[in-house]
Amino acid sequence: MNLNSYIKSLPTKRKLSEVKIKIITRLWGSESDTFPKPWVSSEELLKLTDQKYFDRRTRELRDQLGCDVESSYIEKFNGHAWRLKSSKLAPPQDRDYLTQSQKDKLFNDNDFTCVTCGLKISAGIRGLQADHKVPLSRGGSNDLINWQPMCNNCNVGKRRACEGCSLECKTCSWAFPEKFGVKTMVSISEKTLRRVDAYSDKVGTTRDKVMEDASEYYLDEKENN
Ligand SMILES: [Zn+2]
Ligand SMILES: [Zn+2]
Repeated sequence: MNLNSYIKSLPTKRKLSEVKIKIITRLWGSESDTFPKPWVSSEELLKLTDQKYFDRRTRELRDQLGCDVESSYIEKFNGHAWRLKSSKLAPPQDRDYLTQSQKDKLFNDNDFTCVTCGLKISAGIRGLQADHKVPLSRGGSNDLINWQPMCNNCNVGKRRACEGCSLECKTCSWAFPEKFGVKTMVSISEKTLRRVDAYSDKVGTTRDKVMEDASEYYLDEKENN
């Protein structure tokens, strides 16, 4: 594997930042260096990136992207240094992002459909995103089972809904849409909606339930003729 294909294999959410590319390129060193690659001092990385927080960026390479980076006190530098131990990436439960091929599989398995609104959409920055069902901040994991495909709009809506939310995630329709059904927008006349609401009031059920039953009833009728 060379540096270019290594960078391409990283599970990035967006394009890798300039600083991270600088760091990874330096840690990779020359193509002829074998793993583990040689130690690079903190001092050199600081100079190279001109970033006070170069160490945070380097740790992000490890914790978010799963790069096999280690740091240690190194005698000859009389200080801390970093190196790339291998070109292996940590498994998804040990990092924040999915690799491109894991994302592709997630989207494919779900037929490129947003789990919350049912919109079929192509992947990409403004399209389908990989979303943590239970957010990391609420104790969610990076296990594959905690990821779902979501369109950008729903993703923004979910993030807003999650801010300061104290609901049990288990009962949240954003986190487990498969339990609560897809929320989709359909145009319906006011007259029909009023009938639906009047009926659901009368029998003590929900609008959702009446709409669902009505559709099923209609389709059963039509499809069998
Ligand atoms: Zn959506
Ligand atoms: Zn929530």
